[in-house]
Amino acid sequence: QAAPIKVVITGAAGQIAYSLVYQIASGACFGPDQPVFLHLLDITPMMGVLEGVVMELADCALPLLAGVLPTANPEEAFKDVAAAFLVGAMPRKEGMERKDLLAANVRIFKEQGQALDKVARKDVKVLVVGNPANTNALICSKYAPSIPKENFTAMTRLDQNRAQSQLAAKIGVPVKDVKNVIIWGNHSSTQFPDPSNAVVTIGGAQKPVLAAVNDEEYLKGAFVSTVQKRGAAVIAARKMSSALSAAKAASDHMRDWFLGSGDRWVSMGVVSDGSYGAPADVVFSFPVTTSNGKWKIVEGLTVSDFARQMLDATGKELAEEKEEALAVCKD
Ligand code: NDP
Repeated sequence: QAAPIKVVITGAAGQIAYSLVYQIASGACFGPDQPVFLHLLDITPMMGVLEGVVMELADCALPLLAGVLPTANPEEAFKDVAAAFLVGAMPRKEGMERKDLLAANVRIFKEQGQALDKVARKDVKVLVVGNPANTNALICSKYAPSIPKENFTAMTRLDQNRAQSQLAAKIGVPVKDVKNVIIWGNHSSTQFPDPSNAVVTIGGAQKPVLAAVNDEEYLKGAFVSTVQKRGAAVIAARKMSSALSAAKAASDHMRDWFLGSGDRWVSMGVVSDGSYGAPADVVFSFPVTTSNGKWKIVEGLTVSDFARQMLDATGKELAEEKEEALAVCKD
């Protein structure tokens, strides 16, 4: 069996982490032959709750779980990790402005970037889930200059999974038969779920999703807004935000990055090189393929006038967030 890899989860006493620890420790994320040593970081007041998570992990008797380190110390948590799930973030409180939330979180991700830079493996793969995820990932990367910027990503996989699932239900096929739906831009309400290159397998043959759905009004309207507002719909129903599906998406993202995406495109927020007219040097979600631990933006897709407007709007939001975040970091 391979030697264990160290994997950190921040916000480890929170809701998303409660599902994510099992995804990772059971082998669903890094594969059935890869033991993991889990580092669980949270803030000091949460150490009691975290102890309960540690007890439950022990009680799962998982063969791949080589050990668990609960801690409130970032330098201990990030020491020698090969993968980092940055889930912990300040929740939006009543009456809080978007700007206040951004400022609070940017400070957390600046500190965590500095700690990663100091003690993590230089090939660590970082996935940011805590919001505003794209801008947090950018800031984290800026404060970890000794780690390649390609190693910092933000999660848009839950949006992709939601989009794929909506289309499969609309067409009436199993979700696995729809592929190559794209999420462009920011993990926010400006994101653009784009079905225009997606394909569906029906009766053994592949068909464009656009032709299979054959309802432009739906694809440009209800489909996009359902995906954009799905998080709020789950909160309205469950009285708590989505956690199981967010954890599953985080695991999907990291698994594909480590083990390869095969013949599917996956959406990941990555540091933009300006592809498809996106602003450079923001963390923008693109369609990528992954192999040998590296991602590559899918090239050569046609961008319609409608898509152009959507990409520009989400790109503009990310450029603004970046400026606000950099100003906070200078304080
Ligand atoms: P969750 O585990 O539910 O959520 C954590 C973060 O994930 C939030 O920023 C949330 O954003 C974000 N998120 C991204 N995508 C989604 C999605 N699709 N659905 C839901 N959330 C999403 O939060 P909890 O409050 O249960 O737990 C957070 C934990 O983080 C707490 O234990 C807290 O103590 C800890 N924490 C740790 C820090 C650290 O380690 N330094 C710093 C700050 C907090 P949104 O709020 O926008 O939904």
